[in-house]
Amino acid sequence: MHFNAYGGNAALLAAALANLDDSCDARTVEILLAEHRVARAALTEAQLEELRAWCLPLWEAFAAPTTREQVIAVNRLLADAAAGPYVSTHDGQAPHLHYADEDADVVTRVRAATAAGLALVLTETDPCRLGRCGAPGCRIVFVDVSRNGRRAYCSRQCATRVHVSAHRDRKRQR
Ligand SMILES: [Zn+2]
Ligand SMILES: [Zn+2]
Repeated sequence: MHFNAYGGNAALLAAALANLDDSCDARTVEILLAEHRVARAALTEAQLEELRAWCLPLWEAFAAPTTREQVIAVNRLLADAAAGPYVSTHDGQAPHLHYADEDADVVTRVRAATAAGLALVLTETDPCRLGRCGAPGCRIVFVDVSRNGRRAYCSRQCATRVHVSAHRDRKRQR
């Protein structure tokens, strides 16, 4: 699947944030932001709290069971991000979309980029590209970048676990 570099990267960042656990420290989140090309990613304690609070609504957008509910969840993210996207031509570049002011604080930029990234996946690719692992008890969410868009599990381990237990059930039934 082809992803717009900016939107696709922002959607992957949204998944990575949604999968963080509540006890993650500032350093962990800073590294994750830098890996997803977020500039000036240093976090104060207050900003860490703000980003942690953003992780749950992100997760809900991936995990929403129907397209309708995904749309509602993503629209809520866009409204809460309230960042004022604009077209920029800085440094002689062709007009392109910025989701938030480049000089805005890191929380504002991350909220804006992740909300827009999920909106782009919903509108430009396919709602089923935002997914949650189908293994019982696993809460991990993902952007499905597979060619056929039918990824069901977060990892090989979860897929194996489900297949092994289905195999056991069939054996028991015989
Ligand atoms: Zn730019
Ligand atoms: Zn899983």
